Amino acid sequence: MKNNKISIVKIKNNEIERAVFEALDLINAESLFNKNAMKIVIKPNILKSKEPERAVTTHPEIVRAVIKWIKHHNQNDIIVAESSGTSSPGVTEKAFEGSGIKKICQEENVNWTPFEKTERIKYDVKNPLVLEQFVSSPLLKEADLIINIPKIKTHWQTLLTCCIKNMFGTLILGNKAKTHARFSTLDAFSAALADIYSVSNPQLTVIDGYLCQEGKGPSKGEIVKLDLIIAGFDGVALDTAVCKIIGLDPQKVKYIEKAVEKNLGTSDISEIQFLGENLKDVSRKFKIPRKHPVSVPLPSWLADYMGNVVFRATIKFDPNKCRLCSTCWENCPGNAITPPEIIKKGNTPSWERKKCIFCYCCAELCPYEAVDFKINYVRNFLFSWAGVFFLIIIGIIVGVFLWIFL
Ligand code: SF4
Ligand code: SF4
Repeated sequence: MKNNKISIVKIKNNEIERAVFEALDLINAESLFNKNAMKIVIKPNILKSKEPERAVTTHPEIVRAVIKWIKHHNQNDIIVAESSGTSSPGVTEKAFEGSGIKKICQEENVNWTPFEKTERIKYDVKNPLVLEQFVSSPLLKEADLIINIPKIKTHWQTLLTCCIKNMFGTLILGNKAKTHARFSTLDAFSAALADIYSVSNPQLTVIDGYLCQEGKGPSKGEIVKLDLIIAGFDGVALDTAVCKIIGLDPQKVKYIEKAVEKNLGTSDISEIQFLGENLKDVSRKFKIPRKHPVSVPLPSWLADYMGNVVFRATIKFDPNKCRLCSTCWENCPGNAITPPEIIKKGNTPSWERKKCIFCYCCAELCPYEAVDFKINYVRNFLFSWAGVFFLIIIGIIVGVFLWIFL
């Protein structure tokens, strides 16, 4: 069983470094430094090139604080590594730059690299749920210690992105889209996330709960200044604790269930030893994406039907924001997006519902926040078999009424 300690520390007066040191000291994280000159890989969330204030990427000052804490314990072989969301060459370098994390690495004199700039090796997944093997950087194997620094954000597809989901970024560039395409259901994709996490399996996690996202996360959501640093060793327990803090039922986050199935940690709050702030005192309910908002008790087939049909989303491109940059159609795992015939301002890409696997990558990756998901409940219902049936019944009732009274 993994060490079950989790520390929760408030960031007061924007003093991030103090909060990070306190959170790590509370759980005695320095006990992980069991030899000199360890190779330490830091994995932040650098989804794309966005300024820190937009709360899409791990805040650079948290990366800086973790680097300083490592150096404080006389470890200097540090490398910050990530592979960003799209498949375009140079995209991760751009994201390192835009997120402010490259500058931090340079100022703190530590190495940084896109995973795709290293060698590539195959990793076998032990007891795979769905994914037997994947390709990533040798850094995962070479590291003596991997420190995950995810950010708390809601997510259209998985509802939450934090500890387990952040390690999906160890897949290199286009392999992420391929994995989405291969495991197109939420269940299968969540199992793949647990399989990937089981290989990288960071020994330490420091969660950026400073500026978070709620609602249409992970890149278009509203910013929440939660002012928290949460640290621990068990990513499953940490994701569960985050769910409790943001008012999300952990049982609705499929990858937590899959990670427990794989024995990667605990989702039982009673097994976790909390240190620092009290979970309840720091809770703040987040707006959760309403993908399948069927909360009334219904038979599961009806709830599924309602969720998949009546509440299904339609993808919209905002002509005022879209710059036809090609990111969405080049990275769509289902090939559901095509560019307009004429590339000119005001035109937008087209979307094919039949091919869409609703992975929400297009909204996640669009650099200009031009992709949105709309749910037209009435239209969805009327164009479904239930809607047709409903209209027939209404038609019969009206017919009988007219026959009797006219
Ligand atoms: S919707 Fe976004 S990602 Fe797609 S072409 Fe327009 S700007 Fe680029
Ligand atoms: S259109 Fe968007 S949500 Fe649908 S498969 Fe493509 S990237 Fe995923």
